[in-house]
Amino acid sequence: MATLYIDVDDTLVVWTADGESWIANKAVIEFAKQWKGDIVVWSGGGLDYAQMWARRLLQSVKWVASPKFNPVVKDGDVFIDDSPFKAWEHATIRPWELF
Ligand SMILES: [Mg+2]
Repeated sequence: MATLYIDVDDTLVVWTADGESWIANKAVIEFAKQWKGDIVVWSGGGLDYAQMWARRLLQSVKWVASPKFNPVVKDGDVFIDDSPFKAWEHATIRPWELF
């Protein structure tokens, strides 16, 4: 089953330039709701941080939270990330491409 990996900062959550306030990225949330496979919400900020945002913004979606790691990328896996690692850049959708 294909996995959707969703980054948190400036992907699921979009911060204002001053870093003081944020908005939920509705396009990313909608994409997650339509996804048929597994979902990993992950962050360079760690497991707890990813989990906090997933609980807040993806209540109607089944997900697991994770710190960022180096996954074995399978055919069909998709990454949504504003700043992806090179290893999965080929399978990445930038959040602004979903609008
Ligand atoms: Mg990010």
